[in-house]
Amino acid sequence: MMDSRPLIFDRSPEELTQILQEWGEPPYRVKQLWWGLYRNLWNKADQFTVFPKALRQKLEEQFAFESLQAVRESWSDNGQTTKLLFHTLQGKPLETVLMRTLDRNTLCISSQSGCGMGCVFCATGQMGFMANLTSGQMIEQVLYFVRILKEENRTLSNIVVMGMGEPFHNFENVLAAIDRLNDPNGFNFGERRFTISTVGIVPFIRKFAHLKRQINLAVSLHAATDELRSELVPINRKYPLKTLLEACHEYVNTTRRRLSFEWVMIRDVNDSLEQASQLVKLLKGLLCHVNLIPLNPTDQYSGKAPPKHRIQAFKALLEQHQIPCTVRVPRGVSIKAGCGQLAALHQGQTS
Ligand code: SAH
Ligand code: SF4
Repeated sequence: MMDSRPLIFDRSPEELTQILQEWGEPPYRVKQLWWGLYRNLWNKADQFTVFPKALRQKLEEQFAFESLQAVRESWSDNGQTTKLLFHTLQGKPLETVLMRTLDRNTLCISSQSGCGMGCVFCATGQMGFMANLTSGQMIEQVLYFVRILKEENRTLSNIVVMGMGEPFHNFENVLAAIDRLNDPNGFNFGERRFTISTVGIVPFIRKFAHLKRQINLAVSLHAATDELRSELVPINRKYPLKTLLEACHEYVNTTRRRLSFEWVMIRDVNDSLEQASQLVKLLKGLLCHVNLIPLNPTDQYSGKAPPKHRIQAFKALLEQHQIPCTVRVPRGVSIKAGCGQLAALHQGQTS
């Protein structure tokens, strides 16, 4: 039978305060609950031994502490990279990926099950949109892996919303999840350690800019001409490059933050020096950084990653024009980690 209890991680501190108040509990119980969930990383009502038994039982009756079912785990890169396939209660798939290196551990979370944007090279795009995830389901992905890291004596360095889905199509829930994880009285994960990656939903880039948050933003570009970009990223027909770049300028001018661009490199498609010089023109005067991501092959797309020298030549041209550029080390290729997000953002600064 499906669990109909609400997920406790979907509740804001204000909501929990109100609920516990209605139950006649003293105010400090909320703090203990919040601390238990977000500091002690508890995910069972009976772990709350600070509470009287009756309250533990009530919590157990009224709330679910887990909603995602871990279906399959895969490893690559000598065990440094872990991918987890979860199912929601409705059986919708989503993936979370943890990438460990000596100096940092980055978690890539999903904001949706599937994605409706249909980028041709992307495995998630190929499966289509299935569901928006709730804020609690995003938090659950994070806490699941933080518990694992804790056992390994490691800590989490960064969270990137670069798994399945287009975060700006589920913006409220994404922000609610970040806010809750950011809470200094709880998980206390600084805004600067989050990155949202968007395919380029212009109205939301503008909206996000004006919120003036310290969350990093990455825009998936992949092509510097409308003709090519519309082929790879269908939403470009709705928000073409000119409009997109205007919004990017607005973002940088408003926030004074460096913007990241992602460019999945596909052999003989977008790896030419001609595209590179178009890109230079496009990014002129913009405070930004470019991440080049060698394509992670997917089943329904025949493209391949370019040879190394092509990637290096592309990078060199950008750098000649003072555009900082990083080539992402492909990770998790053998486990087909999500839509290639493994290759996406690691090792490095995004701002
Ligand atoms: N929808 C958002 C975030 C999820 S995709 C976006 O598109 O930005 C995260 C990143 O993974 C994007 O830059 C996307 O272009 C990239 N990506 C998708 N499929 C890939 C693949 N097969 N190989 C490498 N990167 C891929
Ligand atoms: Fe969706 Fe991003 Fe994949 Fe495009 S690249 S289909 S926007 S998840």
